[in-house]
Formats: sequence, structure tokens, C-alpha cells
Amino acid sequence: MQTISGKIIEQQDITKETYELIIETQESIQFLPGQFVMLSFKDAPTEKRAYSILRIQQEGKQIHFGIREEKNMSKQLRAATKETEVEIQGPMGRFILKEEENELILVAAGIGITPVLCILHELEKRNWKKRIHLFYSSSREENAAYLEEIKRIELKEFSLKLFLTKEEGEDSSGKIYGRRMNIEDIQKKIKNIENTEIYLCGPVQLVTDIKTAILATGIPRKQLHSEEFYSRS
Ligand SMILES: Cc1cc2nc3c(=O)[nH]c(=O)nc-3n(C[C@H](O)[C@H](O)[C@H](O)COP(=O)(O)OP(=O)(O)OC[C@H]3O[C@@H](n4cnc5c(N)ncnc54)[C@H](O)[C@@H]3O)c2cc1C
Repeated sequence: MQTISGKIIEQQDITKETYELIIETQESIQFLPGQFVMLSFKDAPTEKRAYSILRIQQEGKQIHFGIREEKNMSKQLRAATKETEVEIQGPMGRFILKEEENELILVAAGIGITPVLCILHELEKRNWKKRIHLFYSSSREENAAYLEEIKRIELKEFSLKLFLTKEEGEDSSGKIYGRRMNIEDIQKKIKNIENTEIYLCGPVQLVTDIKTAILATGIPRKQLHSEEFYSRS
């Protein structure tokens, strides 16, 4: 597996809790949308964390991550000065878009939106014609990272349902307040099981719960793709 050196060039606030980290790399990186890398500081190479690739620009030499500030590495990366040297291992991971054009259900919770957004931009590039439905869960609308970018996505058959688990309001077709998404919400959007692929990303517990519920409905395992954002411990 390749290890590439890079340096931090910028951190931009996205919401109160999340920021975009931009790293310039010495070599260009080839990746498949949905994949992640292992990131470490050059002076502490054994302390690594996985981060999904949000986008890669500048002919593969500028890599962007969407990161939620949590405890150790995610805070240190936010606080690091420009030019801080880092190491990137990868890309890796099998949470990637299949080639065949099927109907898609995308489910993202919290910062689990990062690989899903990358996949959405890939769908835009491929000019995907089939239905795509995104379920996105966040505590509050102001904490929903990249919401404006998602709304600007140009896909003909794309719809979004936002779950604002800690906010009160009147439910509408696009927004549900005060609860988490559940299997019934997802089932309502599946028109034809055989032609539907489901991509699911977020915290371990939520992904496990939804995955179990989806499989119990009879969706074949090969049509379910998931990424769990577990932490090191
Ligand atoms: C494939 C993959 C992709 C990922 N992509 C992203 C991404 O795009 N964006 C993103 O923000 N994150 C992503 N993550 C999560 C990321 O790798 C880190 O886990 C996250 O940034 C937290 O790291 P940290 O060092 O800040 O916190 P950590 O020190 O790892 O702590 C994380 C959490 O665990 C708890 N914890 C830590 N140590 C202990 C302990 N000993 N006992 C009990 N609880 C403990 C902390 O309270 C904290 O809530 C991804 C994870 C995976 C596996």
C-alpha cells in the first residue's frame, strides 16, 4: 500500500463542529469515490485515523476531508499550523459505487455524509438517470455539514430527506423533526428491491441497527454497502 507525504494547507470551518481539512500531496492520488485513507502526522506515524476522501483537486494533488472535531487526532488536525507535515496511506475501502446504474438509497448520519457526498458528485459526473434518495440525519440543521452543497447537486431524480433529531418543527416531505430515521422511512422509498442498491455510512451503532433492519426486510446482502466510522478504541 502506498504512503504519500503531504502538508496541511488549510482548515475551513463548515459548521460549529466540523471543518474541511485541505492537504497538498507530493504525488497525485487516484481513488474511487467512497474510499478513505489513513492519516497521521509525520512526526507521529503510528498514531493514525481513517478519513474518507471528500474530494481531490489540483490534478490529484490536493485532498479534502470533512472532519468532525472529537477528541484527539481530529482536534490536533484542526489546530495544526499550515505546512504541518502529514502522511497519507491508501486509498482503501470497498464503500464504492457499483458500475451498473440502479436506483439508489443513500443513508448518512452526521459526518458519515463525507463519502456519500463524494459519491453524489460522482453520480453527477456520470449523469446518473435513475432515482437517488438521500436520507441525512443530523442533530440540528445548523450542524448538518455540507447541506447547501447537497442542495446544489444537479441530478434529475434526486431527493433529500433530512432528519433533525434534536430540533423541533413541523414535519414536511423534506424534513423530519425530533427523531431518528427508521426502517419504515427507508422502505417507503424502495420501489423495486431487485434494482435498488443501498449505501449507508455513519456511527457504528446507527449503521449496525439500520443494516440489521434492512437485511430483515429481505434486501440481498450484496445490494447493501456500508461504512462504519468507528474510532480507534
Ligand atoms: C473508514 C472510516 C472513515 C472515516 N471517515 C471519517 C471522516 O470522513 N470524517 C470524520 O470526522 N471522521 C471519520 N472517521 C472517524 C475517524 O477515523 C476518527 O475516529 C475520529 O476523527 C475521532 O478521532 P479522534 O482521534 O479525534 O478521537 P479518538 O481519540 O479516537 O476518540 C473518538 C471517540 O471515542 C471515545 N474514546 C476514545 N478513547 C476511548 C476509550 N479508551 N474508551 C472509551 N471511549 C473512548 C472518545 O470520547 C471519542 O468520542 C472515519 C472512520 C473510519 C473507520
